[in-house]
Amino acid sequence: MDIYRIAIVGAGPAGYFAAQSLFKAQSTDRTFLIDMIERLPTPWGLVRSGVAPDHQKIKTVSKVFENIAKQDNFRLFANTELGKDISLKDLSEVYDAVILATGASGGKKLGIKGEELQNSFSAAEFVSWYNAHPDFTNLKVNLETETAIIIGSGNVAIDVARMLLIDYEKLEITDIAQHALSIFKGSKIREVIICGRRAPENAAFTSVELRNLIKLENIEISVSHNQLKESNLRISKVKDLDREVENNLHAMSMVLNQSSKSFKRKLEIKFLVTPLEIKGVNHVEEVIFAINKVNDGKVEITNEFFSLKAGLVISAIGYEPIEYQGIEIKNGRIENIAGHIKDNIYVVGWAKRGSVGVIGTNKSDATDVVDLLIKALKVPKKVTGIEGVLQSNHKIINQIGWEKINASEVISGELSGKPRIKESDWNRLINLGTT
Ligand SMILES: Cc1cc2nc3c(=O)[nH]c(=O)nc-3n(C[C@H](O)[C@H](O)[C@H](O)COP(=O)(O)OP(=O)(O)OC[C@H]3O[C@@H](n4cnc5c(N)ncnc54)[C@H](O)[C@@H]3O)c2cc1C
Repeated sequence: MDIYRIAIVGAGPAGYFAAQSLFKAQSTDRTFLIDMIERLPTPWGLVRSGVAPDHQKIKTVSKVFENIAKQDNFRLFANTELGKDISLKDLSEVYDAVILATGASGGKKLGIKGEELQNSFSAAEFVSWYNAHPDFTNLKVNLETETAIIIGSGNVAIDVARMLLIDYEKLEITDIAQHALSIFKGSKIREVIICGRRAPENAAFTSVELRNLIKLENIEISVSHNQLKESNLRISKVKDLDREVENNLHAMSMVLNQSSKSFKRKLEIKFLVTPLEIKGVNHVEEVIFAINKVNDGKVEITNEFFSLKAGLVISAIGYEPIEYQGIEIKNGRIENIAGHIKDNIYVVGWAKRGSVGVIGTNKSDATDVVDLLIKALKVPKKVTGIEGVLQSNHKIINQIGWEKINASEVISGELSGKPRIKESDWNRLINLGTT
């Protein structure tokens, strides 16, 4: 029987799905011992720190992750960061293969003047803050302003808009971070404006997300009637139109047909605009935009400008991997060929493809990379695994430690009618998971 030691770095969906594929590929001749290494004290990646608190059903995929983690040949090493506590070179030497599943957690920058003003955030920061990611507990978010601008028109933009507009009572019964809940309670936001650079037919959000938003009471949604008309005209000339484009435009036209109830809050989706500058003294006060036009299918910036007053700006224009020693990032992903980086090192998930695809996308993707990895396996190396390279006094949170954190959060949640109350302090998490 060949016994291979595999390190998976990153305990998000892609990492768990890679472990699942490896376990499925075991046979009477071949076994895999899997060590999953995670920088945070908690696993589950963006399922814990990205997926919106009011989307609890989606988070039930964590049950699949926990079943994978319960397998005999699986060990979790949380609170262990690649590039800080261990190097990629060391890992590659003490394992038969290494799979990087480190995601893409850095928010892409707009690169415009004023982006550094107070109350201007990337969605990567803002979402992590309301989801209790321990790196973002102290983010200074101020919701005591009437208008928020979101730059970008993908699903993350829709998530953030919904979080800003939803009734506070609906958030109270979720696993939103306690520190964020109290800020949302005092929110004065009445209007959110989503600003997309391209035309309605290019919107990156999915129609399901928009339709769910339309169903919410108390929120009036608007899009430009003329822009939609022009989009429909343009797509009428396209052969083999993508179904999702058609669905999206249909969902947007439903917005125009909303009955005029008395709405508490407003969401406007503005297309064909480019932010040029965020203005304000210390904190965000106004955003200057250029108007874009579609010329021969291409989006072009014009010489027409306008400005919007707002006290909060969130840029949701995508995520990119955070660099650590031993990898190269190009075009928003770790450089790789079909998931192979070099030697015995592979990559899966958002780190491999960039920030595209839903949780399920990472499953088929991980299976393909694992197939490639298995084909390249030779005789097992007879290696030590992580114990050989980690400092002896390093505080590891193993599966049992994580289960303690998990149980403690769920129990405190039950007492207040929530799925869990997340711990968001690094030291308290480490104490909970190591004692
Ligand atoms: C705001 C937001 C909302 C979303 N909502 C949905 C949704 O509702 N439904 C849906 O299907 N999809 C949703 N997605 C997409 C989904 O979250 C991703 O497809 C998925 O999480 C990508 O998985 P991953 O494992 O590649 O990355 P991640 O989930 O980011 O996991 C990467 C893991 O690696 C760890 N890590 C990073 N660097 C290191 C290091 N150096 N050492 C050790 N560990 C490290 C991270 O801490 C993290 O735990 C959402 C994404 C975002 C950003």
